[in-house]
Amino acid sequence: MARYRNAVCRLCRREGVKLFLKGNRCYKEEKCAITKRGQQPPGEHGNNARRGKLVGYAEQLREKQKVKRVYGMLEGQFRSYFEKAVRQKGVTGENLLFLLERRLDNVVYKLGYATSHAQARQLVTHGHIVVNGRKVNIPSFQVKAGDQIAIKEASKSNVFIQEAFQTAGGRGRPDWLEVIDTNNMVGRVVSLPRREHIDSAIKEQLIVELYSK
Ligand code: SF4
Repeated sequence: MARYRNAVCRLCRREGVKLFLKGNRCYKEEKCAITKRGQQPPGEHGNNARRGKLVGYAEQLREKQKVKRVYGMLEGQFRSYFEKAVRQKGVTGENLLFLLERRLDNVVYKLGYATSHAQARQLVTHGHIVVNGRKVNIPSFQVKAGDQIAIKEASKSNVFIQEAFQTAGGRGRPDWLEVIDTNNMVGRVVSLPRREHIDSAIKEQLIVELYSK
């Protein structure tokens, strides 16, 4: 899958919030560009740019960009998730978030096997992840309740995975996922995600309004 390859801290500065795109560095206040420079936008005029209150289209666009970046999506793929969400029963905005949350790369990140979505995607595509005992190398794979997500036996000694897993406690795990075997790095999908499990600061209705124009 194509993905954004420029300096990711610029994306946080563009949105004015921490998007946690750079692994453990994001949790070190002295290293985070948002903490160091505040909400000053990127670019040569960033110092002088003022961040006024966004309304209407601008607010909807920024919300969509923010969520898209958190999950590491490009526009086409994000849009196709939205179209899928529209076809499902229920509230479209919530459906969209549930589809994004249930992606295997997101689950790998949230279980703590990786320190960022980007690293999690790489673990999946490089074949380090097994779901219910079978290797799955598709980041967009949708997990189901009861699925067991683990690190492939031969990859358990990988230093990056070990390091990420050891520091994962500090990042926190959502209630819909649990680690059932810490020594063997096995996690489980306890239940499908519900809205209260997902960042309450996301205003998904704005994304629905944007795409419904
Ligand atoms: Fe964003 Fe800070 Fe992480 Fe950079 S270090 S990606 S600015 S949260």
